[in-house]
Amino acid sequence: MASAKRAVEDAGKQFGLQIGAMGVAYGEVDGYLVQLTPGIDARQPNVVVQLLFDVAGRDQVLIKNSIAADPAVQGADFAAKRLQIVADRATYTQPANFVGSFSGDKLRDLTRALVAAMKNAAPPPPVKCEHCETTESVPPRLVNGAVTRVCEPCIAKLRAAAQAAQAAYDAQPTRLGLAILAAAGTAILGGLVWAGIGIATGSMYAMVGIGAGLLVGFATLAAAGKGNLIVQGITFVATVSSALLGQIFWGAFYFDQAFKEEGLDTDWGQFVQLIPRLLWKSGGDTVFALACGVIGAAMAVGITKRQTVEMKVD
Ligand SMILES: [Zn+2]
Repeated sequence: MASAKRAVEDAGKQFGLQIGAMGVAYGEVDGYLVQLTPGIDARQPNVVVQLLFDVAGRDQVLIKNSIAADPAVQGADFAAKRLQIVADRATYTQPANFVGSFSGDKLRDLTRALVAAMKNAAPPPPVKCEHCETTESVPPRLVNGAVTRVCEPCIAKLRAAAQAAQAAYDAQPTRLGLAILAAAGTAILGGLVWAGIGIATGSMYAMVGIGAGLLVGFATLAAAGKGNLIVQGITFVATVSSALLGQIFWGAFYFDQAFKEEGLDTDWGQFVQLIPRLLWKSGGDTVFALACGVIGAAMAVGITKRQTVEMKVD
């Protein structure tokens, strides 16, 4: 009975693996690079077991079939559908047991069985730097959350490249004018959809507010060229306004209808003056629309955040 993180730590220690960022255990087992990753999704906890092998001249389907047919693997609570072989990496996703926990010993047995089965399927990966292929001092490392072998000089080069990419991103100008136009345009469009669906169905749907947030977020990001605090602010204001606009457009439809029924020309000047009262009077609806707008805005703000180029090495 253990959490995914604890089981990974337990199993990892039994193999002499190192524990890196986010509780990932990584290292070498019988020549194979191994990584045990505790799932961070709390609703569907899992542990992902990964093995790296030498793929040269080998077929992934044959490797998968060979592992799936191995008696040791079959004895270790194995299901072939949870095994994926992509490029030089075998990935096995172990779900939690029915009470949502894990056993370090079972995880160790599973990993050991997978390594033993892999021995019959494909040889271990060559001991060399992933980038420059040097064979000098290339211990297993966790780079951006994935186990690999990289030499020190290459790590320094990759770090410098990441810093340069970040500097270039930050130096790139933000197209603020275009961003504001895109945000305003998509906010109005979102408001029209909100009103249209309201008029057609008589109801308000949170999904529309969220959809407007996604629309405003992606359009504004594309127009701005990059994300940052200012772009996030623009999308936040636009998305919340979008939901309020939806309520106003909705009211405008009925206002217009009332005039038409009387055979009169709609007095839009009067409508504009009525807007505050319209929003105030339909208090609960306005609050709901605002809440949907804020949820949508949270999505939009997430989309337009400043991008970071990082290189994390354990
Ligand atoms: Zn290198």
